[in-house]
Amino acid sequence: MAVPKRRLSRRKKRVNMKKKMRKIINILQNPVRCKYCGHLKIPHMVCFNCKKY
Ligand SMILES: [Zn+2]
Repeated sequence: MAVPKRRLSRRKKRVNMKKKMRKIINILQNPVRCKYCGHLKIPHMVCFNCKKY
């Protein structure tokens, strides 16, 4: 039976999580104002307020 040579260390796990989180945080920290209603929205996403792109 195949067994992983090394268990992922606590540190490695954290680094992996950080990589995933960075993308999400990056999006959340760069809000863009909708040019139609002025509502804060995520860039390149449909505005939640007026549903316009
Ligand atoms: Zn809008």
